Amino acid sequence: MNVSDSERVATSLAGKGYEITRDEKAADVVLINTCSVREKAEQKLYSRVGRIRHSDGPKPVVGVLGCVAQLEGETLFKKIEGIDFVLGTKAVGRISQAIEHSLENGAGYSDLGEREPDYDWNVADAQRHSPYVAFVPIIEGCNKFCTYCIVPFSRGREVSLTASTIIRNVLELRRQGVKEIHLIGQNVNSYRPLSDAGLEGFAGATPFAKLLRAVAGTGIERIKFNTSFPRDFHPDIVDAIEENENLCNWVHLPVQSGSDKVLRAMRRGHTIQSYFKKIDRLKSSTRDISLSTDIIVGFPGETDSDFLDSVKMVEYCGFDSAYIFKYSPRPGTPAYEMNDDIAPETKAERFLALESVFRKRQTEVLQRYRSSTLQVLAEKSSAKSATDLTGHSTCHKVVNFKGSKELLGNVVNVSIFDIKSNSLFGELC
Ligand code: SAM
Ligand code: SF4
Repeated sequence: MNVSDSERVATSLAGKGYEITRDEKAADVVLINTCSVREKAEQKLYSRVGRIRHSDGPKPVVGVLGCVAQLEGETLFKKIEGIDFVLGTKAVGRISQAIEHSLENGAGYSDLGEREPDYDWNVADAQRHSPYVAFVPIIEGCNKFCTYCIVPFSRGREVSLTASTIIRNVLELRRQGVKEIHLIGQNVNSYRPLSDAGLEGFAGATPFAKLLRAVAGTGIERIKFNTSFPRDFHPDIVDAIEENENLCNWVHLPVQSGSDKVLRAMRRGHTIQSYFKKIDRLKSSTRDISLSTDIIVGFPGETDSDFLDSVKMVEYCGFDSAYIFKYSPRPGTPAYEMNDDIAPETKAERFLALESVFRKRQTEVLQRYRSSTLQVLAEKSSAKSATDLTGHSTCHKVVNFKGSKELLGNVVNVSIFDIKSNSLFGELC
């Protein structure tokens, strides 16, 4: 979501004649887009602004965007010296006003206001992280209020874009030569537009399942979606994947814990059995769907036995990949008021133990790709070798293979001969 936000900010500025550079030292204005999901992410802002302030040469205008900006607002000026303006998560459409105001009047400008009704969600070709892959926001904000999470406070309530807007965006991306789109949002499967515009005539048990079929109907080559909320993950989503080859075989379904007691305290809205039921449906699919997840260890009150439930859950599910986090208390969330009773050493031990169980299980489940042929979008030359290309498979694995640059932007068949935890290696068929 943050990458997508940054791409839209760059698009808006480039459209107004600003030149975009990644070279901090060459910039007249430095924009820092922030995340506040964990404390560590927030601390990066402090060190980044400090580095700019203490660097040699003329000082650029420094603007802070994103979740930390939204949550802290003007208090950031007092907390961190060297910030000129603060722009909240929904105010990014007014980035040029913020810069112009700061250039004319100096530091102290803040805008935490609402999104404009005609906000442009499109990203210019030149500002996309890849010429072949594009992010398409379909829902912003979150209504779930999991007790540990700051997102509903930093991003506000769920608002779904209309299907007609989304489909128009996808058709335009297809026209521009984009091969793969990612429908994105905190919880894509909670998608609920105010009207049915664009979904008429499409089957589906939920608006998201209808949207998937409608987007598949645009004929764009590959469609991925991220993130799915377990409680709202309807089996009809799997049916839609089975019916449409261009809906990719990858689902990211964050479980957070294997213990029902912890899931209740997190207010996730699912039990571990209901989660397993969804995993079973995904695993029994006619498509080989790869599964990924997020897990938190060391949530307040997590006992050894609760942790063991997370270990068992990881063993049962056999994820292709998993992001494991140590619980990080976020001020303003309900969990922040709970007793953070798990010692940092215990959190670290559980993190390492769970990672090791996950890696062992992952080594087993990834073996199914050995000698298989995957369809890979050749996205860029490999950083390690000029004769190698790298890209993602339909099941969202990074795949490296030998190939010439002429293949970039094409979907090619790659036969897999080596498997590492974060990437696969193969040769062109
Ligand atoms: N909406 C998604 C969902 O429901 O799972 C996840 C969005 S959240 C930005 C990404 C991940 O960050 C979460 O799945 C969770 O594992 C992790 N996370 C969120 N708050 C956290 C916290 N306070 N401490 C540690 N990890 C956290
Ligand atoms: Fe955070 Fe829960 Fe919303 Fe995901 S569903 S963004 S974890 S509050």
